[in-house]
Amino acid sequence: MSHFRIRARDDRDRRGALVISLDFELLWGVRDHCPSDSPYRANLLGSRRAIPQLLDLFEEFGVAATWATVGALFAESRDELLRFAPKDHPSYRNEDLHSYLEEIGHSEEDDPLHFAPSLIDQIRRRPLQEIGCHTFSHYYCLEPDAGVDGFKTDLESAVLLARRRDLRLTSFVFPRNQVSSTALSVLPSLGFNAYRGGEQGWMYDARPGSRSQLHRRVGRFLDQHRASPARLVDWKELGEDPKLTNVRGSLFLRPCLSTHPRLNALRLRRVASCMERAAASGKILHLWWHPHNFGLNTELNLSGLRYLLTVFTQCRDRFEFQSLSMAAAASAAQNHAQVPEMVSNAPATSVHSYT
Ligand SMILES: [Zn+2]
Repeated sequence: MSHFRIRARDDRDRRGALVISLDFELLWGVRDHCPSDSPYRANLLGSRRAIPQLLDLFEEFGVAATWATVGALFAESRDELLRFAPKDHPSYRNEDLHSYLEEIGHSEEDDPLHFAPSLIDQIRRRPLQEIGCHTFSHYYCLEPDAGVDGFKTDLESAVLLARRRDLRLTSFVFPRNQVSSTALSVLPSLGFNAYRGGEQGWMYDARPGSRSQLHRRVGRFLDQHRASPARLVDWKELGEDPKLTNVRGSLFLRPCLSTHPRLNALRLRRVASCMERAAASGKILHLWWHPHNFGLNTELNLSGLRYLLTVFTQCRDRFEFQSLSMAAAASAAQNHAQVPEMVSNAPATSVHSYT
């Protein structure tokens, strides 16, 4: 008698993929250590100019990206923001992290660091661009006393405000990569089926607090310049949980420094070589950064990205390397991991094709 059963496909002939995610947060993501009157304001304002140029570049190269957006940025006005914000604010012990104590303007016009509906509109109009979620208020899951209930209500605010804009959010990025197992359990119930897990290694272990320790920052700096192929993600890592896919990050794309052109070139060559390895071996290179990393030295950073996307095109032509949003990567992993097929009592044969 024949029946259906589920079995894993063979991973050997899978196509590699470039996944890009951007944590779009403006001041919400840095306010505890770079207040609005700090020199970093120039980077934040610069990111507003960099975003349309990033979109042009992605469109020119046919590249997808997931924009993990802080929910408050969707608001058209302070009234709308406060109407959607959770009634109970986060209960962090660290007062510096309390976003709602911040002075907020009326709208994007007078407060371009807290509101961004016009930029979100630009992003969603472009091909292959996904709007994801970065909580409503840049919520810190690992802070003492943060609590899963606070996380859930914060996330509900983001989901509801996005829904008001006819957007269904399915990809999620934890602020400061503070992945918590209790928070993970909430995601599927609010419609999320993909999240970005942090890079692996002692220097990437997320901790509470505004600033990470010096030795961790140095470790990350060195690791991000080394761009080892060990950072690539195997497809089989993605398909383990049918409800929630961990599209793990490979590498933070550090901003280029105008003072260190040789270091920039060395790092970009290593990232490019990592991408070539991903293409040749059928793995995933998941690059991530913030738009405000491109807010200063914008031309230099865009030119570095152009170089990487040119290498992407060569890999696409040679190895059928693909560009995927987080949602598309999760969907490809889920479709591939479990394929219903008709089997009889005869021994199962491997399925080698992947589309
Ligand atoms: Zn963030």
